[in-house]
Amino acid sequence: MRIILQVPEGLKQEALSHAARLSAQGHSVFLSASACFGACDLALDEARHIGAKKLIHYGHAEFSRVHVPGLKVEYIPYYAELDWKATGVMLQKAASLLHASGAKKLSLVFPIQHAKNAARVRGQLAKAGFSVASGKGGSHTRAVGQVLGCDGTAAYSGAARSAGTVVYFGGGKFHPTGIPAGKPVLCADPHLQDAYWITDEIAKQEKRKNGALLAASEAKTFGILLSTKPGQMNTAGAELAKKLIEKKGRRAEILVANEFSPLALANFLKFDAYINTACQRISDDREAYGKPVVNIADIKRLLEIMV
Ligand code: SF4
Repeated sequence: MRIILQVPEGLKQEALSHAARLSAQGHSVFLSASACFGACDLALDEARHIGAKKLIHYGHAEFSRVHVPGLKVEYIPYYAELDWKATGVMLQKAASLLHASGAKKLSLVFPIQHAKNAARVRGQLAKAGFSVASGKGGSHTRAVGQVLGCDGTAAYSGAARSAGTVVYFGGGKFHPTGIPAGKPVLCADPHLQDAYWITDEIAKQEKRKNGALLAASEAKTFGILLSTKPGQMNTAGAELAKKLIEKKGRRAEILVANEFSPLALANFLKFDAYINTACQRISDDREAYGKPVVNIADIKRLLEIMV
C-alpha cells in the first residue's frame, strides 16, 4: 500500500525507523517533509498528490475525525517513557514548591505523550499530601487531563474545577502557557527534571493579548488569516469576521495560506492588524508580525472597544 508518514517537528528523528518498519511490511512509504506542529495538521495535500491510500500521523492523538474518500487516516500517539528515579526527585521538588505556596487541591494536566505516566504522577503527588483531580478538555482532546496548545481548559473543568493550583506535567512551555490565566500553574518537567512556577509568564501573555486588542481597535485595514490546515480551517469564522469589521466601517480582506509566518506576510504593508482564525498560538508571535494579531475568539471584545 502507498503510505504517507507524517511526523511532528519534535519527533522527526523517529521518522526513519517508522518508515523502515512499514517498508519491511511491503508498503511503499513516503515521508511528509512539511512542518508539522500539531494534531490539527494532516498532510492531506501531499497524500492526494502522491495518491496515498493511507496517511499515518505519528506523535499526536486524533484531533477530529477526517473523512477523505480513498484515504485512510490513522493517528499513532507517542507515549514518553521516563527515568522514574530522576522524575521522582523532580516531583519531590514540585511538592516542596506546592507546599510552600499553601496548595492543597491540585488539577493535574499533561500533553498526550504523558497520558500513560499521569497515574503514577498523580499517585506520587497524593502521597506527598495533595488531593489531585483532572478535568476533561474540549472536543479535540482524547484523555482526561490532556491539554493541547490551543486547549488548556482541562485545567479548570470537571473534577478539577475546585482545585486551587494547576500542575502541568510535561516538557517545554508551549502547553502550559496555553492554560487560561486564573490559577497558579506549576510546571513539573520530566525532560529537564525541573519544577518551576509559570504563573507570571501566563499573566504576561494575557497582558500582551490585551495590548494587542487595544492596538487593533485603532486599525483601519485588517488582514484575516485563514489556514487550509484541516483542523484549523475556519472559513465561516473568517467570513463572519470580515463582515463584522466592515460593519464597523473598516476594511478587511481574507488571506489564505496553509501556514502563516511573519515572512510570508511581510510584504502586505497595507494591513494595520490581523484577525487570526487559524491556530490561536500564532498570536504568541505577534511581536514578530510587527502588527497586532487578535484571535477570532476575542473578536467580540475587539468590536466592543472599536469606536
Ligand atoms: S491548532 Fe495549534 S495549538 Fe492546536 S493542535 Fe494545532 S498547532 Fe497545536
